[in-house]
Amino acid sequence: MKPKYFDIHSHINFSKFDDDREDVVKRMHEQSVWAIVVGTDLQTSKEVVELADKNENIYATIGLHPDDNRKEDFNLEDYKELVKNKKVVAIGECGLDYFRIKQGEEGGTKKRQKDNFIKQIEFAIENDLPLMLHFRPSGKSMDAYEDGLEILSEYKERYKEKLRGNSHFFAGNLEIAKQFVAIGFTLSFTGVITFADSYDEIIKQIPLESLMSETDCPFVAPVPYRGGRCEPVYVKEVVGRIAELRGEDIEIAQKILVNNAFRMFLNG
Ligand SMILES: [Zn+2]
Repeated sequence: MKPKYFDIHSHINFSKFDDDREDVVKRMHEQSVWAIVVGTDLQTSKEVVELADKNENIYATIGLHPDDNRKEDFNLEDYKELVKNKKVVAIGECGLDYFRIKQGEEGGTKKRQKDNFIKQIEFAIENDLPLMLHFRPSGKSMDAYEDGLEILSEYKERYKEKLRGNSHFFAGNLEIAKQFVAIGFTLSFTGVITFADSYDEIIKQIPLESLMSETDCPFVAPVPYRGGRCEPVYVKEVVGRIAELRGEDIEIAQKILVNNAFRMFLNG
């Protein structure tokens, strides 16, 4: 049985959920919402796998975020046991994040991020898993996306369908969106689309089969919960907005978005 909604990127392992994590998961059960809980370093990767093991409707990704934990580098040996777990459905979140790079640290930071990203791309291919991608440009241009797409395109040529994934919290432009679609990657959107119109055109123009729904909770709660803590069941608002923007029947959009998540992450 498939759920009604799929939040493909959440962080309910974070401490913001320490007081009521069980209630949050219970609400997911009651409202037919499944979620992927995303690791950002070794410690959180272990946490999310544990959460996934305990809950039927929760899956996990393991990997190293490009910027969240600067003390750590992606060490394959650390992840070899974890990746054997059947609830692990992707590698990441990994990618490039140029938003907080300080002046003078550009070269070193970018190299470190690129090295960690490439290690995780190869780890994903080796284990036949998709990537959960995190790209955040500096703000001056689409730099992190451009650099990321260059790397991904090279691997795509070599590994074809074996290389696949989703660009989470998409914050690129239409041109960048089309490049991801061209190499078979999907894009996911958060509650941001319920209060900002920056991505309306992208959501209208790229195929519904290339879109995914996510919350990135505890961050960016959608309208009408804006400003509060976000949680996976709020993914409904994101799905509703995608349907509305596309002039699509809500139930059809719901089904397609769940199917997209199954195709990418659950092999079906
Ligand atoms: Zn995340």
